[in-house]
Amino acid sequence: MKGFAMKRIGETGWIEKEKPKCGPLDALVSPIAISPCSSDIHTVWKSALGDRHDMILGHEAVGVVAEVGELVKDFKVGDKVVVPAITPDWNSIEAQGGYSMHSGGMLSGWKFSNFKDGVFAEYFHVNDADGNMAHLPDGVSPEAAVMLCDMIPTGFHGAELAEVEYGDTVCVIGIGPVGLMSVAGACLKGASRVIAVGSRPDCIRVAKEYGATDIVNYRNGSILEQVMHLTDNKGVDRVIVAGGDNDTFIDAIRMLKPGGKIGNVNYLGEGDYVKIPRLDWGNGMGHKSISGGLMPGGRRRVEKLASLIKYGKLDPTKLLTHHFEGFENVEKALLLMKDKPKDIIKPVVLI
Ligand code: NDP
Ligand code: ZN
Repeated sequence: MKGFAMKRIGETGWIEKEKPKCGPLDALVSPIAISPCSSDIHTVWKSALGDRHDMILGHEAVGVVAEVGELVKDFKVGDKVVVPAITPDWNSIEAQGGYSMHSGGMLSGWKFSNFKDGVFAEYFHVNDADGNMAHLPDGVSPEAAVMLCDMIPTGFHGAELAEVEYGDTVCVIGIGPVGLMSVAGACLKGASRVIAVGSRPDCIRVAKEYGATDIVNYRNGSILEQVMHLTDNKGVDRVIVAGGDNDTFIDAIRMLKPGGKIGNVNYLGEGDYVKIPRLDWGNGMGHKSISGGLMPGGRRRVEKLASLIKYGKLDPTKLLTHHFEGFENVEKALLLMKDKPKDIIKPVVLI
């Protein structure tokens, strides 16, 4: 079969590989809608996972079931399915402890284009198919559903980690596709005021459509000063971090009220330490917490998130700025994510 792969650090290309084998609990899926992710860019060009040779990229796909193992109960050949980026081993100790995304070791629920070939292929392999795939609901398009693989569950996880409550003032730092879903997630969880931090006009427009009430442009000066000015020096109840770098946490801690929580979903790719400003952290006693997490996977969660689209509570297609048709265009879509023209939020490729 054909796949689009990382050949080595800094190099991608088409490769031929054997079709994966389907174990008794597994499925093979052929993609019908795929989307490249910032994480694919970190993997190939920022050496996020170290060197990989001829590893097929991609972890966001909606597809058609091509094969199922004899123990799979709820899926059959021809079913249309959404497959989340994170595909845990559901019988692991970590999953039993409530952290399925770390099944088999920290971050090891992330398998596609990490420990095994990803979804930019004619066929891809799904472990624990009954637990890791969801039926594509009637009335939800494959291109909307492909945002259920990573952007919605990750952005919403930022709002979960920050434990957003009714009436909270929330600052969302970074409004790429992930941060935009954090804005939407925070609003669905009851935030009153949502201060979105970004710079590109298209992201700012979409952030307002998803419910942002205030915009801070980090290129116009300190994020902290702008947020404190907007809030009459009171600060915010919650911060969701979906962009920026290690130093972003300095501002995040400072703008947080005592008892506030920071939910981080941003990938921190450089440096050894994240610094926490001691005094603003209440000398260690300010009840200001930081939780960072890999998105949760699982069929139940995808089905619940999909019902938000089905019943009109969330429209993820506002994220889709670039549309392609044909598998051969995966390469163009991926390079768009790498070069990040000003108007891009997320590309989608229909096959
Ligand atoms: P984008 O690169 O599209 O968005 C990043 C956002 O951060 C943009 O709004 C950008 O602003 C903003 N930004 C850049 N620099 C700064 C800065 N110094 N201060 C404040 N804001 C800044 O990324 P994605 O939305 O695709 O992904 C966000 C992160 O989430 C990535 O690190 C990705 O790897 C990670 N991720 C994590 C997952 C998880 O499971 N936890 C899963 C998937 C992704 P602008 O462009 O407007 O200038
Ligand atoms: Zn992704």
